[in-house]
Parts: sequence; structure tokens; C-alpha cells
Amino acid sequence: MIVDWDRRLREHGFRITPQRQLVLEAVERLRHGTPEEILVEVQRTASGVNLSTVYRTLEVLEDVGLVTHAHIGHGAPTYHAVDEHMHIHLVCDLCSKVSSVPAEVASDFVASLKAGHGFVTDISHVSIHGWCVECIEASRADAEANIQ
Ligand SMILES: [Zn+2]
Ligand SMILES: [Zn+2]
Ligand SMILES: [Zn+2]
Repeated sequence: MIVDWDRRLREHGFRITPQRQLVLEAVERLRHGTPEEILVEVQRTASGVNLSTVYRTLEVLEDVGLVTHAHIGHGAPTYHAVDEHMHIHLVCDLCSKVSSVPAEVASDFVASLKAGHGFVTDISHVSIHGWCVECIEASRADAEANIQ
């Protein structure tokens, strides 16, 4: 568990409840979880929990800085525990595969936004869309096969 997670909640005026603990544990176990996936995980031990409880709980955990979210697909956001390493999601638009790279790969980009526009970028909040290396290689192999 995240160090001092219970103190963090209490300091912000929230009580420690079994639901809050279960949702946080589920986020940590899944590493990447949409509210629906977190619900399935929580329901393995607490069948009475529903989706709106999970959403409300995630909001509280995010308010006190215990979880963050990123937008990977077009649907609900994906939640991470804050002790995960900062990373950026690369989403392949051809095969839908999601891979993670360290946030540092974007440090030049982040620095130039700061220097040129005074903008401080929360780079792990968004995903980068494009084509993965496997899909590019597959399409190259296809093209070569067509030439012969
Ligand atoms: Zn992630
Ligand atoms: Zn967001
Ligand atoms: Zn791909």
C-alpha cells in the first residue's frame, strides 16, 4: 500500500472506510484500471459495492492525491496509484495496443512548452496516438509482398 494513505485521507478530512481501502488496493493491484475494471476487482471481496460508489471513491482518492488518471481509450479514464512511475501511454490506432514509456522521453517537448508558452504540461494525463512498430513492420512486409 501507498505509505501513509490513511493519514493522507484523514488530513483532508475524510474517514478511513473499507470501501476506500478496497478501491485503492484494487487500483494498486491492477496498475491500470478503468472504473469498471476496478469495480470487478473490488466485487471479488465486497459484492455490495456498485459503480457509482467506485466513481465517488476514486474522486476522493484523486482529491487527496492517492490516485491519478490518464485518458487512454475513448471511454472512461484509466486510474493509477500515485506511486507508479510517471509514464506516457502510446496507443496504436491500428491494433489498439497500449504501451508505456517513461515520461522523460517527452522532456524536451515539455521544456519547450514551458520556455515558449509558459505552459506547465501534465504529460502523463494524455496519450500519444499513432502506429506501433509491429504494425509498421507488418504493413511494410505487406507492401513488399505486393511488389514481388
Ligand atoms: Zn499507465
Ligand atoms: Zn482527465
Ligand atoms: Zn499496432
